[in-house]
Amino acid sequence: MTSAFKNCKSLLVTGANRGLGLQIVENLVAGGFSPGKIIATARSPGGAKELRYLADKHPHIHIIKLDVVNQRSIEKAASHVDELVQEDGLSCLINNAGINVFAKFDSVTAEQMLENFHTNCVAPLMITKAMLPMLRKAAAKGSGMGIHRAAVINMTSLLGSVELNWGERGSNFRWYPYRASKSALNMITRSMAVDLEADGILCMAIHPGWVRTSMGGQQAPLSTNESINSVLDVIGGLTEKDHSSFLHYTGEQLPW
Ligand code: NAP
Repeated sequence: MTSAFKNCKSLLVTGANRGLGLQIVENLVAGGFSPGKIIATARSPGGAKELRYLADKHPHIHIIKLDVVNQRSIEKAASHVDELVQEDGLSCLINNAGINVFAKFDSVTAEQMLENFHTNCVAPLMITKAMLPMLRKAAAKGSGMGIHRAAVINMTSLLGSVELNWGERGSNFRWYPYRASKSALNMITRSMAVDLEADGILCMAIHPGWVRTSMGGQQAPLSTNESINSVLDVIGGLTEKDHSSFLHYTGEQLPW
C-alpha cells in the first residue's frame, strides 16, 4: 500500500464494522504505513467483533459509536473525535456507510426514497459539517491538498452517474432510491468542494468497483481487499488536481 498514509495524522471511516469500511481499517493497519490515529465508527460497536479484534491488536484504532442518520449521535461522535485528535485536527474523513434500498419504478415509495437519501447523502453532508472544525484545524497546519493536510472522501457509486444511466448498465440496475441518492451525494461532493476549497480541504467522490460485500452480492467480480487496495492507493495519491473529482477505484475519471 502507498506510503502516503504515514503523513496522514488521523483518518475517520464510517460504517467500519463490516464490508468496505472494515477492509479499509484492515488494510491501513496491515500496510506498515498507517495513519497516526484510525477512528473507526460503527452504529453498534458491541456487535463489531472483527473491528474490536483489530483494535485490541492495534491501539491506534479508536472505535466510536455513530448512527449516521441520527443528528445527536453525529454531534456526540464529533466531540469524541475532537478529544481524540486535539490540536492536530482530523486529516481524512471517509464517508463510507451506506445502504441500497432496492426499488424499481413500479414499486418505489416516497419512504424508500427518503430512507436512502438520508443515509447516503444527507448523512455524509451532516457528518462533514460536524467534523469541519477538526478538518479546518488539520488544514491550517499544511499546504497543498491531500491526506497529508485535510480531505473528505465520499464513497459513491458509478450508479450515481447520470451520464452512464443509459443502455445496458442503465436498464440492468433500475434502483431509483440508490441511484438517486448517489447522484445527490455526487452533487454534494462538488458543492462541498467549492465551499471548502478556501480552507484547503480536498473533497472528492470515489467508486470502489463492484465488490463482494453484503451490498455488492457474491456475484461481484472484486474482493474487498482488491477494491480497497486500489481505493487506498488512489486516496493516498490525491493532490490539488483531484479536488472536486469523481474517480473510479482504478484512479480514472468518471463522468458525472
Ligand atoms: P455493506 O457491506 O452493506 O456495509 C454497509 C456499512 O454501512 C455497514 O457498516 C453498515 O453498518 C453501515 N451503515 C448503514 N447504515 C448506517 C447507519 N445508519 N449508521 C451507521 N452505519 C450505517 O456495504 P459496502 O459494500 O461495504 O458499501 C460501503 C460503501 O460503498 C457504501 O456507501 C456503498 O454504497 C458503496 N459502494 C459499494 C459497492 C459494492 O459493490 N459493494 C459499489 C459501489 C459503492 P451496520 O452493520 O450497522 O448496518
